[in-house]
Amino acid sequence: MISQNKSGEQVTGFMRLVFVLALLLALPVGALAQAGAQARLDAADSVITTSRAAGSVDLALSQPVPYRVRMLAAPPRLVVDLNTVDWDGADLARNGAPPRLGQLSDGWARMVLDLGGPYLPARAEQRIDPETGRARIELRLARVSLEEFEARAVDEDAFAARTDAALLHPDGPAPPAPPLRRPVVMLDPGHGGIDPGAERDGVRESDLVLKFARILREELLRRGVFDVAMTRDADVFVSLDGRIRAARAAGADLFVSLHADALPEGMASGTIVYLLGDEASDDSAAYLAERHDRADMLAGVDLAGNTDEIARVLMAVAWQDTAPRARALADALVHQVGEAGLRLHRRPIQSGTFTVLRAVDMPSVLIELGFMSNPSDLARLQDPDWHAEMAVVLADALEAWQEEDAALQGLRRR
Ligand SMILES: [Zn+2]
Repeated sequence: MISQNKSGEQVTGFMRLVFVLALLLALPVGALAQAGAQARLDAADSVITTSRAAGSVDLALSQPVPYRVRMLAAPPRLVVDLNTVDWDGADLARNGAPPRLGQLSDGWARMVLDLGGPYLPARAEQRIDPETGRARIELRLARVSLEEFEARAVDEDAFAARTDAALLHPDGPAPPAPPLRRPVVMLDPGHGGIDPGAERDGVRESDLVLKFARILREELLRRGVFDVAMTRDADVFVSLDGRIRAARAAGADLFVSLHADALPEGMASGTIVYLLGDEASDDSAAYLAERHDRADMLAGVDLAGNTDEIARVLMAVAWQDTAPRARALADALVHQVGEAGLRLHRRPIQSGTFTVLRAVDMPSVLIELGFMSNPSDLARLQDPDWHAEMAVVLADALEAWQEEDAALQGLRRR
């Protein structure tokens, strides 16, 4: 505790009383203000000064108004709210940085004064001239210890949430702007390691999709719009949950799983984009989802018991936001593939209970680039020209979606 001289203690005791009065004043004086009437500030007759030991704020008003006074710490600031005053571009002079003036959404007018040190109100009153009806709010400030100031300051977080934060902060040296963050795309080449995925003519799905993922990564990075991470960049096994965890760890904004499976009937061909659904959209979706999960089971990963009731409810809430974004992503992908004249499946958007799509906090899609069980798809899947073209098409789609999604997200936040 910092020791204080006697007069300092007296000032402190007196201040407490007056400070409470200042807050109470807001009520009786409010009765004086005519309904709907707005006071005007007489800037020429208003004075703000601060010295090393004391300070004063005198505001000349065309009529009395309810007011409240609060202190904010780090840095020390005085906040005076008035109900209601039209600042009307008032230019309040001061021997130091002038106060910031603004209007709050609830009708109060706010003045924020940077104090440059710990000062507390020693006296606060509003005097009314009975002749003219004009009013004068007079605050007297006394320098106190930083400890004492901080004990009396209100919590800015609770305070600022309801107000215009821009007013509360000194505009002095601006904090460095956060680096512009690029959205992170998590590319997820399916399978790997002990799980090769589909195999045809000695070609493994796990190798094909890893190769394509690397090409797509280069295409995305070349454009400078996205950052890219991959769930695997080698022929290794990664569990389905592990892939989602890797995406979270990378701060991924969207998740794109890449596959080129085989279907037993051998008839499926063309690109399909899968979304997470409660039920499989058809037998082949059910087959693929089950097959991908079975690879996890074979590797000894326990998929059970990762959702309790509360988690389920929270997930449902998050999903309401994510599902339409994932759907828009699927639409954009299918649109671009179709526009480019690349082969689409006759039902290009489908749904299934794919474990790897279960992150409810980021839009996730699983792209079957083509089917290894179909001979022409298999040929395309190994064609470098097709790789390059498909990578450009998917990157175009991700860019288009990102732009639209960012605009929509901005609207939602408002
Ligand atoms: Zn697969």
